[in-house]
Amino acid sequence: MSKRQRSNEVCADCSVPDPHWASINRGVLICDECCSVHRSLGRHLSQVRHLKHTPWPPTLLQMVQTLYNNGANSIWEHSLLDPLSVMSGKRKANPQDKVHPNKTDFIRAKYQMLAFVHRLPCRDDDSVTAKDLSKQLHSSVRTGNLETCLRLLSLGAQANFFNPEKGNTPLHVAAKAGQILQAELLAVYGADPGTPDSNGKTPIDYARKGGHLELADRLVEIQHELTDRLAFYLCGRKPDHKNGQHYIIPQIADSSLDVSELAKAAKKKLQSLSNHLFEELAMDVYDEVDRRETDAVWLATQNHSTLVTETTVVPFLPVNPEYSSTRNQGRQKLARFNAHEFATLVIDILSDAKRRQQGNSVSVSKENVELILKSITSQHSNESQDNDQPDYDSVASDEDADLESASSKANRKKATKLEKQNSVPDSDYDNAVSYSDLDDTGSGRKGRQRSAGWQGEGSVPETGDTDADPSSVLPSTEDVIRKTEQITKNIQELLRAAQENKHDSYLPCSERIHVAVTEMAALFPKKPRSEMVRTSLRLLTSSAYRLQSECKKTIPVESSATTDIQLVTQQVIQCAYDIAKAAKQLVTITTKENNN
Ligand SMILES: [Zn+2]
Repeated sequence: MSKRQRSNEVCADCSVPDPHWASINRGVLICDECCSVHRSLGRHLSQVRHLKHTPWPPTLLQMVQTLYNNGANSIWEHSLLDPLSVMSGKRKANPQDKVHPNKTDFIRAKYQMLAFVHRLPCRDDDSVTAKDLSKQLHSSVRTGNLETCLRLLSLGAQANFFNPEKGNTPLHVAAKAGQILQAELLAVYGADPGTPDSNGKTPIDYARKGGHLELADRLVEIQHELTDRLAFYLCGRKPDHKNGQHYIIPQIADSSLDVSELAKAAKKKLQSLSNHLFEELAMDVYDEVDRRETDAVWLATQNHSTLVTETTVVPFLPVNPEYSSTRNQGRQKLARFNAHEFATLVIDILSDAKRRQQGNSVSVSKENVELILKSITSQHSNESQDNDQPDYDSVASDEDADLESASSKANRKKATKLEKQNSVPDSDYDNAVSYSDLDDTGSGRKGRQRSAGWQGEGSVPETGDTDADPSSVLPSTEDVIRKTEQITKNIQELLRAAQENKHDSYLPCSERIHVAVTEMAALFPKKPRSEMVRTSLRLLTSSAYRLQSECKKTIPVESSATTDIQLVTQQVIQCAYDIAKAAKQLVTITTKENNN
């Protein structure tokens, strides 16, 4: 994107100049503040991506920019363009508006309630209209007019519509015509590049046959988007599809988790899932990867003082009313997994996805597993042992269930189900339970001992190792905020170093973070009475300890096995994020308590 172009761009929601984020499925560019609201709505309403700090497939970025420059925003703000609405006082958000409630209310009205669109999406039972819209989409993707197609999709046209007369789907048409940006848009709305037409040919086949090689390669990538993203999250690279490699399965080599009976049982359970339930779980984990990665980008790009004063972090996956409440709860529990546990889950999913794809028997051949993650040690933060953390026990809320969501007709049907308080789970697999059971394995105990040993050395408050009486005295809010700013400032420096591949900056940064964390902990009494304070302090100090030991791995040691720097970086980012989260919890608690 050229500088010149960017200078004219403004946030689609509040008109702040130079927006840094994009909402891919809405075809708009948005500012940081509005992005935080988009994120809180969930990916089913808005899929956000940072324009600079997230890697983009070039044609996906081009698709979003083309939509934005061609005025896709008017789809979502149609009635606001009417002079009558200005007179009636209806208006969009201003740059000066507060995030809460003004911008938040506007963004919810715009994308969740679809309050300003020309026409609401067609009803679920209106199959005639849906079919008609889908047929229009089917012929429109032949042209380069993206905005028309987004409009049709927003009204309920189906990206995977199979046209009975033509014997194919819109993606077949776009692929034949070499319309790569249309293909990107269709894929965002769920079109499948592997669908056969009436001759058994896929869109990939037609793109290749028509000489649209870039499009053909991109469609192969889109087909493997889920597993590629999971692999990239763990090891920073993707399979080489052009040379027939479709899966990378990283392995945590010296993990005691891999051999524990519980881990084996969890793996077995994963393997016994029906394909449908497995796909659901994999999609949930994909969403959680997206949440964690976007959190890291968010943390790295924000002014450190806004991080402690605004409620901008998304602590777990927002409710999707299309899903059962059981599934929503399982999705939220994924946020509790520490970096190591989550990596284990992602690896299990990758290897089972490969097994299912290749139709192999249940025993996964070890020879085919690529051994690239050699140096990770099994580390558990204390967080995982504190499953009673109140913040993460909040149950999926049904409050949004009756609201209209973007373009999915299925939403309406499922929402009605939720309204009726139908608590029968759609899924018999509680994806979080079997993995949280792993806390009780030997490695969990090892982690606990190590943390306890370290905490004994320092001045970290810990119940049981001090004779002091429990104290309900809390430090002043100002002191906690000041220390938190110091911590987040250093974390941002660390994350910037990670983005710029300055690995030798990791250790000095982590040492400064450790100092700030120790000072923060010293503000609190030796034995805080509040369980929430104790939990947050434990998360804070144990994460700072883990961060330092991860950063020490960047020091070259002659005798050691080669360190996978990408994996270390990923663990470093997760630890940094846990520290920021804990510090923010302490700010919230002290602010609340001191105001009482
Ligand atoms: Zn904005």
